[in-house]
Amino acid sequence: MTIRLHDTLTDEVRPFEPLDGERARVYSCGPTVYGPAHIGNFRSFLFADLLVRHLRWRGIAVTWVMNITDIDDKIIKGAAAAGVEIDELADRYLERFLEDADSLGMTRPDVLPRATAHIPEIVDLIATLLERGHAYRTDDGSIFFRIASWPAYGRLARLDPDQLRVGERVEADEYAKDDVRDFALWKAPKPGEPSWETAIGAGRPGWHIECSAMSMRHLGPSFDVHTGGIDLIFPHHEDEIAQSEAATGQPFVHTWLHCAHLQMGGSKMAKSSGNIARVRDLLEAGHSPRAVRYSLISVHYRVGLNHSDESLHAAAAAVERLDALVGALTSYREERPDNPDLPDALAAAREAFGAALDDDLGISPALAVLFELVRDLNRRIDGRSLSTRDAERALGLLRDLDQVLGVLPEAVDALDPETTALLEARAAARIARDWAASDRLRDELAERGVAVEDTRDGQRWRRLSESVHG
Ligand SMILES: [Zn+2]
Repeated sequence: MTIRLHDTLTDEVRPFEPLDGERARVYSCGPTVYGPAHIGNFRSFLFADLLVRHLRWRGIAVTWVMNITDIDDKIIKGAAAAGVEIDELADRYLERFLEDADSLGMTRPDVLPRATAHIPEIVDLIATLLERGHAYRTDDGSIFFRIASWPAYGRLARLDPDQLRVGERVEADEYAKDDVRDFALWKAPKPGEPSWETAIGAGRPGWHIECSAMSMRHLGPSFDVHTGGIDLIFPHHEDEIAQSEAATGQPFVHTWLHCAHLQMGGSKMAKSSGNIARVRDLLEAGHSPRAVRYSLISVHYRVGLNHSDESLHAAAAAVERLDALVGALTSYREERPDNPDLPDALAAAREAFGAALDDDLGISPALAVLFELVRDLNRRIDGRSLSTRDAERALGLLRDLDQVLGVLPEAVDALDPETTALLEARAAARIARDWAASDRLRDELAERGVAVEDTRDGQRWRRLSESVHG
């Protein structure tokens, strides 16, 4: 097994091994919490989630860091417009982001660092850039990175060096700077804006520097993978490379992964153009969160994805086929010898599924393998050629593959054994019409955070804020 990933900087698909031989360190540019994220944002977050899940499925330990931008022009404007404090607005939309992420089955990153909690790290990094001559201060107290001091600038975005204008004095971005390309590391205080008193003066951090400071704080000066949408290649990631490597003298990131845009109605999904769909709106319109997740991960991350009602319905149909198979395998009972060729068929499917994802997260061939398996298992179920134990094995493989995909319904075996035993005891009590025992077991389950209800098809359970399970 060799995992290979496409690195934007070298434009090569290269074998991937953790730099330290043990643990993959992954950083993803996260949300700016000034409003609800749209599903275009989530396409980028979920492709990073798919990467992290696949690495873990392959037995590679991962530390996944995703930053939360909680200080920024958009947040300042948004808070003023809403008449609330900046922290309050950021807290509100961070909570909303986590709710949306959870509903889409996104693995919770190991660290979700907030920019405002890393001002000392940001200030240290800027101080180093000043000392090394890669940054300069303007009259108003703002600090800029001097791009002319960094000849490698533009490699990630493949900018033509001849077309980079140097030394031209232009007033742009409301701040005076030496070169139009230079970018703000530190913004001088302005009336009505938050600022911090620090060793490099009063002000607040620019956006680019926060990602360098937080990624290196949590993952070290050189780490394995940095992800984001392709719109972040320039200038955000170009700036991250320049300021990080200029400060540390070490290679910043080993593999850069960038996700293509999500389109809707033929144009890029972007908040600025109002062409957006939000997670909660889709769920409130009755779409299943697992179908939304499926639709966002089911196209290769470097290929543009068009979001439409049709794409969501196709995803819902795929998820329903999986649910139907899980349901059929769960209830399948057949006293017969084990099917002799099933273990090989399951092993071959697992092998092909893993190999597809190893190849730069090849989700399309991986899903093709999965649905070929679904067809095969449905044939075997219809032909009653599986034993009860075969059905359990097949279900085990689906659950195993779902460690990567995250689209199957939660299984009863996600409960701890004691809770499962209580559910089974209650089902038995109801068959025996022992209502007193059934009520007592219902109370015990409630204490464990599991609610049960009795339907015509038998007992169903659910956990807090989750959907009903058979
Ligand atoms: Zn970033």
